Amino acid sequence: MFKLAGNKWVYVYVLVSLMVAFFSPSLLPAENTRPLFFEGRAVNGEARIYQGCFYLPLSFFSEYLHTAAVWDKETGKIQLQAGAHLLTMQEDAAEISWGGEKRRLAATPRQAEGGLWLPVEVAKFLGVREEKTTGERLSLSWEKNYLLSIRNTDYQGRPAFLFQTARPFTYEAFLLEDPARLVIDFQGVDSYPLLTGVELATSPPVTGIRSSRFSEDKLRVVFDLSRLAGYRIVEAAEDPAKLQVVFNSLLTDAGYLPAGEEGGPLVYVETSHPVSSRSSFLPDPDRLVVDISDATLAGEAMTIPGDGDWVEQVRISQFDPHTIRLVLYINGAHDHVAAAVRDRPNRLEIRPTQEITGIDWNDREKRLQIKSTGPLQEEIRKIPGGLVVELRDAVLTDTVQNGGNREGIKVATEDPSGVRVEVAIPEGRAYDYRVEFAKDKREMVLTITQLPLSGKVIILDPGHGGIDAGAIGTRGTREKEINLDVALRLKKRLEEAGARVVMTREDDSYLGLYERPAVVNRFDGVLAISLHANFHPNPKVRGVEVFYHPGRESSRKLAEYIFTSITKATGLTGRSIKTDKEMVFPRETQMPSVLVEMGFLSNRQEEELFRKSEFREKLAAGLFLGILRYLGGE
Ligand SMILES: [Zn+2]
Repeated sequence: MFKLAGNKWVYVYVLVSLMVAFFSPSLLPAENTRPLFFEGRAVNGEARIYQGCFYLPLSFFSEYLHTAAVWDKETGKIQLQAGAHLLTMQEDAAEISWGGEKRRLAATPRQAEGGLWLPVEVAKFLGVREEKTTGERLSLSWEKNYLLSIRNTDYQGRPAFLFQTARPFTYEAFLLEDPARLVIDFQGVDSYPLLTGVELATSPPVTGIRSSRFSEDKLRVVFDLSRLAGYRIVEAAEDPAKLQVVFNSLLTDAGYLPAGEEGGPLVYVETSHPVSSRSSFLPDPDRLVVDISDATLAGEAMTIPGDGDWVEQVRISQFDPHTIRLVLYINGAHDHVAAAVRDRPNRLEIRPTQEITGIDWNDREKRLQIKSTGPLQEEIRKIPGGLVVELRDAVLTDTVQNGGNREGIKVATEDPSGVRVEVAIPEGRAYDYRVEFAKDKREMVLTITQLPLSGKVIILDPGHGGIDAGAIGTRGTREKEINLDVALRLKKRLEEAGARVVMTREDDSYLGLYERPAVVNRFDGVLAISLHANFHPNPKVRGVEVFYHPGRESSRKLAEYIFTSITKATGLTGRSIKTDKEMVFPRETQMPSVLVEMGFLSNRQEEELFRKSEFREKLAAGLFLGILRYLGGE
């Protein structure tokens, strides 16, 4: 009986401890702390002792052991990137795993005061040892001077490799031929067990990377190269245990494009990675010297022939291990620009610059005239509120910079070498432009032409719609559909000519008879047209009829223009131009308005025509021309 009760209490105790372990974070009480030293120096932080075991703060691992540490407070998951491996642990779990392998820890990671603490055993696993010290401190240091990591990095756009060792070191670097390779000997450095299996990306000229123990105190890293290439070793001032190896860009192609060929004349150079350059001019004979830094020639020195127009020839050679030198033997202009091509950072182009000797804007004739000392390299774009002319490889002469008529245009210089001319055009104004060049392309004239209906508002009213089908032909052709289709075709033509078109309906929706003029009158339109197809009990009746409200002179004119052009465009019989004071649409609209009956659905032949899209297109064309003539655009 007693024994049983005893067992029961043990059971409850276990259950409660389990619950505590599950439902509250395990805290590491500050029962005992020790000053923490690493590599002989005091660490920013301290060690804690818990149940006889040393614990280190997570920050120690990232700040002193070069591991990238991630701790997810929600799930209690801990990740340490060390060497080539991602080590995973879990709060309150005595297991550490990496790449499919597992090991048990004597103590478990624990939380305290919002921070995470790892047992010292984890640091030892990373290659740290405990030093024998006297006194009340925990003293740690690296077991050996390990090569802890090699990473791909980027140095000014070129591929680089970053080495991190445990302690400062000395090194020797040299190139070897047959096969081409770069050797770096790390003195007194050891290979790091956790770095085995590291994967690195390679790009020209590097084809592979390997490391081996060369002698008792030397770790050798070898870069296999596609060819002998220059390199730089960049030491990090802030960390003497860090070193970066950067390879030169390879020159993979070079050539000359004469005038008239893809923006020529120009000399181009293609490289494996972005390069920078410096250039200068030398007289007798006239030469441009362009030095490309941190670049290696992929082959032998070469000579590229020019055409004598700008360039006689180009000599390309390896000037020193880090510099490729281009010498351009030139005729004429030695002002030039050497710059990477926009969106193609691996291509450098050397082009002559030209002087813009005149920029004139004639506001009355909307004409822009540009004169230059060389063939213009222009790009013209429409932008909101205007038009932009960009002139590549061009500079402004002083006189142009300070003079000329600038009313209505803006002139600016652009990097690395260009001129931008902006012509202001009021927004919403439809326009077109045409460009003419002088024969040698040293002069251009850009004329801005307004579209004939630019800025004009035209209102179209496709008759009927929705429940109101309008007239129906013997083959079942419904008027509301014809009206809408012709109106949409007409709308497209009007908009292409620069008009703004308002439709009373753009789909099969119903509008009342008085709603239509109400819509029309909301806009400041130049004219309004209602489109219909007719019906007559006598199937022989056929032809076009146009209606307007009596006594309105401009409406009468519009009716005449439309009647004439629609009959001409379609070949339909012209039946009549009529006035009708009862007709709501032309009477209630407050601008020149007509109602067009485009033909009879009750007539067999005309119904057949209405069913054809080519015919409806002819109707739209006729209506368009009538409108254009009425508005004096033609
Ligand atoms: Zn109708």
